[in-house]
Amino acid sequence: MSDRAPLDRCPGLLRPFLADDGALVRLRMPGGRVATSVLADVASLAGRFGAPVVQLTSRGNLQLRALPSPLPPAFVEAIEATGLLPSATHERVRNIVAAPLARELDPVVEAFDLALRANPRLAALPGRFLFAFSDASGSVLSERWDVAYQQLTSSTGVLYAGQLGREVRPADAVGAMIGVARRFVESAPEGAWNVRDLPDDSPVFDGLDPRAVSAAAPLRPGVAGSDVVCRVPLGMLTAEQVDVLADVADTVVVTPWRSIVVPGGADRADTLLRAGLVTEPEGPWARISACVGAPSCRRTTVTTLDLARSAVEMVASRQLTVEHDVHVVGCERRCGTGTSDRVLVAPPTVDEVVTALTAPAEQFHRGEQ
Ligand code: SF4
Repeated sequence: MSDRAPLDRCPGLLRPFLADDGALVRLRMPGGRVATSVLADVASLAGRFGAPVVQLTSRGNLQLRALPSPLPPAFVEAIEATGLLPSATHERVRNIVAAPLARELDPVVEAFDLALRANPRLAALPGRFLFAFSDASGSVLSERWDVAYQQLTSSTGVLYAGQLGREVRPADAVGAMIGVARRFVESAPEGAWNVRDLPDDSPVFDGLDPRAVSAAAPLRPGVAGSDVVCRVPLGMLTAEQVDVLADVADTVVVTPWRSIVVPGGADRADTLLRAGLVTEPEGPWARISACVGAPSCRRTTVTTLDLARSAVEMVASRQLTVEHDVHVVGCERRCGTGTSDRVLVAPPTVDEVVTALTAPAEQFHRGEQ
């Protein structure tokens, strides 16, 4: 049995989290797929009611913060009008990532979201429970999902729960995923948040055998075929950047790596770069991320975002070569760590962040995890 606190505090629109800078809401978009017109509406509401940025989370969701508490009814109604809250009961369990470049997965992601919302019992899933859909590339299987489906061909695929799996045809994928989620709700001991918290003999694993998961590395910024992957510096998307995105594409894909895939946007990469988005795979903004830190979060006095910005400036002024993904956090909760290869917990100086970005392993020790 998990020893985690049973209280599930994952925020949503209908259950905001109260941070030091005000109320925080999280908006789910299955597979990260979202119309740029919706993003524009959300960015406009962020500027009108709270901090004027849209935060991208490490699960491909959106967050708005520094909002009034309680939330003004006008704000809640306006968010509902965007279509991002199709279910009040299942709001916080629609945590679904999908391979960002594999748009052929869109129908199965949509069908799964519908099936999830149609099952009243699945409203009891923990807010931390994560579903993943991938193609043969293994994209997003690098994340800490609970249940995943990997479609290998048009007629074959594998369902995974933890390190176990079985072959499932694509036509049966939605039902099989829902079945695992239902067994989790029915059998997980109190305090279990995730599949990894379950005992080996849990009914969740019935019919599954040990299977190695072949995961692809997170997408780096840059052109990918006719698409372009844009990293959003520190995951803070501005209304001006959303306007540029909307000028390039009707629909984009928010990834779990604080980036946005712009379908058909390869030819407009320069335009997106001028808007402050990162369209090259290397450089400090392509490699650094941070939790929100002080003064927004009461758990630290470390201004993580400022440290990250200063480190980027220092790297540029010294013309250093950045070779490592670094995530700066203010405390041991390590929010938003994702797959960064170096996590710095409350680094005391900018120099320490620069060293993490640039130093080879033998010269870098403190804080590496
Ligand atoms: S890692 Fe700590 S300081 Fe950073 S946002 Fe999370 S709780 Fe706050």
